[in-house]
Amino acid sequence: MKEIGFETRKGDVVDLTQHVEVAVEGVKEGLANVFAPHATGVLIIGENEPGINKDYLRLMEKLAPEQGGWHHDKIDDNAHAHLRSALFGASLTIPVRDGKLALGTWQRIMFLEFDGPRHRRVLVTVAKNK
Ligand code: ZN
Repeated sequence: MKEIGFETRKGDVVDLTQHVEVAVEGVKEGLANVFAPHATGVLIIGENEPGINKDYLRLMEKLAPEQGGWHHDKIDDNAHAHLRSALFGASLTIPVRDGKLALGTWQRIMFLEFDGPRHRRVLVTVAKNK
């Protein structure tokens, strides 16, 4: 298992593809699981383009506004970040072929930070086919 650590600020969209690719070098065929052990930041597969990176947050503000009068805000001030994270899975599974992630042309592994500033970790587990 490989661990990727990085620092974030609220609203960051971080491209982790290169770091995950290192973990699958030399793997002929298999699966890479990428897991974010966090309740207020998630992983998605998306294009790394500045406009869409801002649009994720615009969409999230519509679906789970920061000033939503949420119950969790009575004990913490980040209910919106928890709710946004709940809309996504905590992990991604990506096929590996000939030592590379079998991603589509525009697909990148992106971390969305809904809270922050934070130190974040992502775990990469690779399962090899025989
Ligand atoms: Zn909280």
